[in-house]
Amino acid sequence: MDFNLPEDLRDMQATIRNFMLNVVEPRAHEIEDTNRIPPELIRQAADLGLFGLSVPEEYGGVGLGTLGRCAVYEAMGQGHMGFGGMISAHASIGTSGLVRLGTEEQKRRFLPRLATGECIAGFAITEPSSGSDAANIRLRAEKRGDAYVLNGTKHYISNAPVAGLLTVIAVTDPLAGTRGMSAFLVEPQTTAGVRIGKIDEKMGQKGSLSAEVIFEDAEVPAANLLGPEHRGYREALGILTNGRVGIAARSTGAMQRLLDLSTEHAKAREQFGKPIAEFQAVQFMLAEMEVAIQTSRLLWQKVAWMVDEGQDVRRMASVAKYHATEMLSEVADKAVQVAGGMGYMKDWPVERFYRDQRLLRIYEGTSEIQKLIIARDLLG
Ligand SMILES: Cc1cc2nc3c(=O)[nH]c(=O)nc-3n(C[C@H](O)[C@H](O)[C@H](O)COP(=O)(O)OP(=O)(O)OC[C@H]3O[C@@H](n4cnc5c(N)ncnc54)[C@H](O)[C@@H]3O)c2cc1C
Repeated sequence: MDFNLPEDLRDMQATIRNFMLNVVEPRAHEIEDTNRIPPELIRQAADLGLFGLSVPEEYGGVGLGTLGRCAVYEAMGQGHMGFGGMISAHASIGTSGLVRLGTEEQKRRFLPRLATGECIAGFAITEPSSGSDAANIRLRAEKRGDAYVLNGTKHYISNAPVAGLLTVIAVTDPLAGTRGMSAFLVEPQTTAGVRIGKIDEKMGQKGSLSAEVIFEDAEVPAANLLGPEHRGYREALGILTNGRVGIAARSTGAMQRLLDLSTEHAKAREQFGKPIAEFQAVQFMLAEMEVAIQTSRLLWQKVAWMVDEGQDVRRMASVAKYHATEMLSEVADKAVQVAGGMGYMKDWPVERFYRDQRLLRIYEGTSEIQKLIIARDLLG
């Protein structure tokens, strides 16, 4: 068994890490203050291929498999989490359904623009009355001639305020439960009857914008049905399962950055006449962070490899996401503690990570839902 990532992936990780730490990080305060990612950073991310990570090369993307994509996500996770959140909502859940299920015509129509970041993507299943209980969504898509007419509301949809394309899950047969849902490719900026609500005011992850998406007699051409009719729920679960591996990788990167910052601080900060790194209480916190990183990394790498091997990862993707995101919360807490008062100050990145990381235990399935998936699979 070889645990080394291939050299080209390690090179790509180094490039992305350098971009996140030396190009994005100096603009972090600006992103925090304006809740907006500067357009030149988006252009630079596009030049590095970040928007086309999962788009096959024939459509202009980088065409990475899951292992490669997650390796990039780990490197990206070391930097601003709002910036990483915007990219991953696009490259992961926003794009992967189209890549996997799209017809040739749909792929030709959208993928080249998604690969360059000219068109930003998102994924919409959550509604005000159905979050964890995604089987109970109400957004209705009624077939009328050559189109489906959509009515209802999605909320908390990442990238919605900037998205040119959303994969939307809607009810096509209200009597058939989860066997009566379908996935649609919706262009919110050009489809009459689709409206983006107020941008959510969030605790963290600034620059990664989310909002309500309101559908009022919105006509979506039948040519925009993604995958077979009435299979949308199953396909949505597949999209979310793959997304969870990416979240585990991003969490691992964030933990690595927090450990690096904590180690640097522990060596430099002196109290009682010596560096605080010499106190065993501080050493133990650093050691616990390292254990969290190593276990989380092994898990995402294994699950990403399983996906690329075509194995069923429903249970293991939840194991990886649950473990890495819970560990990240503990690591972020320890990083604040190691830094003392400075950990609570906005001019040290730990404070930002502490707020930003909290979301990862909630979206793409809360920790409780991950445990339900694992337990149900265990119990058959
Ligand atoms: C910033 C942000 C961005 C998001 N981006 C997207 C996006 O791009 N696309 C999208 O579709 N959605 C998105 N979401 C929605 C997200 O996936 C949901 O918020 C999440 O699934 C939880 O749903 P909920 O908020 O309705 O919480 P609820 O489902 O109401 O859960 C509340 C609590 O109850 C617990 N709970 C619920 N059911 C059970 C159960 N059966 N057993 C045990 N505990 C349970 C939960 O674990 C949680 O602790 C985003 C959310 C946020 C906050």
